Amino acid sequence: MPKIDPWGSSSISNYQHVFSEFGLSQFPESMRKQLKHRFFQRNIVIAHRDFEKVLQRIKSRKRFINITGIASSGQYHLGHKADIDLFKFFKSQGAINYFCVCDLDAYASRPKIKTLQDAKEIAVQNAADALALGLGERDIYVQSNKEKEYYCFAFELGKKITASTFEAIYGHLDLGKVSANLLQYADILHGQLPSYSGKMPSITGIGLDQDPHARAVRDLAKRLPCNLEVPSFIYFRHQSGLKEGSKMSSSEPDTAIFLNDSEADVKRKIANCFTGGRNTAEEQRKLGGKPEICKKYEIDLFHLESDAKLRDIFEKCKSGERLCGECKQLTAAYLSKFLKQHQAKAKKSMPKAKKIVFG
Ligand code: SF4
Repeated sequence: MPKIDPWGSSSISNYQHVFSEFGLSQFPESMRKQLKHRFFQRNIVIAHRDFEKVLQRIKSRKRFINITGIASSGQYHLGHKADIDLFKFFKSQGAINYFCVCDLDAYASRPKIKTLQDAKEIAVQNAADALALGLGERDIYVQSNKEKEYYCFAFELGKKITASTFEAIYGHLDLGKVSANLLQYADILHGQLPSYSGKMPSITGIGLDQDPHARAVRDLAKRLPCNLEVPSFIYFRHQSGLKEGSKMSSSEPDTAIFLNDSEADVKRKIANCFTGGRNTAEEQRKLGGKPEICKKYEIDLFHLESDAKLRDIFEKCKSGERLCGECKQLTAAYLSKFLKQHQAKAKKSMPKAKKIVFG
């Protein structure tokens, strides 16, 4: 078995085929060193398209656009928190910020959301979470409460992409998803229009599975008549669900820790999650655990801010000094503490969140 370090750098080799298949550039060490955030130091950001342009802006203290959108069919979970943590990092680097709560996209593409009013109620919760995680009112917008220029631009984008291109990229022509995609393209690009922030490099963090959107929007940026910078993207390692082989899903409560989970929810979900523990305590003391496949360790890797604490968890697991029961309790304790504070802040943020959504 290859040697694995606490930051998971050797597991990047698992993604080599993705780099060559999609033509992505592996995120280089030279850039990693210049970005002081755990997502870069721990190899959570693994690939990029044209990130050099954004790094150049950061180094020369010039503005750039920071744009991320989340379409959620319910409460935000820890996967969404990771998106917002990265967004906050770029905000701290001097970006002009556009955080989109994608209520129309969620309504159009998620059958679970039955009415537009429901989508807006979810958006209020999502905006309150984003505010509680450290974004400002001016950093956030919702699609359903956006200016007319944005919608005109989305229609302009619709003129530049054909049905056959859509089918080639996404494999279907579901009209709800087509309209949701046009809004996603508008979200990424509209900040560069003269009536917003003007032409400049932009950065968006996405999962590898969202690369078809990135390729489509980069192609559109080159073909539009309005002189835009081709947007840059960075790619997260996959953050999986709590069960073996599962994805985090807003529709399946036990696959993820949600930002409104109670202490009891957190304890139960962490207690039942898939770990890299051995069959018996004796075996684990002798051979050590396998943090590299442990879903609980994955939460620590993404969300535990202290490098020293993360290293301690890793080393005590590998050496067999600490068993899974005690290890899970530690994670459940720091997560519960964080969520309790977060929920109090989100509750206080509700009036601002309602104003963002309903005006
Ligand atoms: Fe995961 Fe902790 Fe068990 Fe190691 S000891 S496999 S990190 S729960």
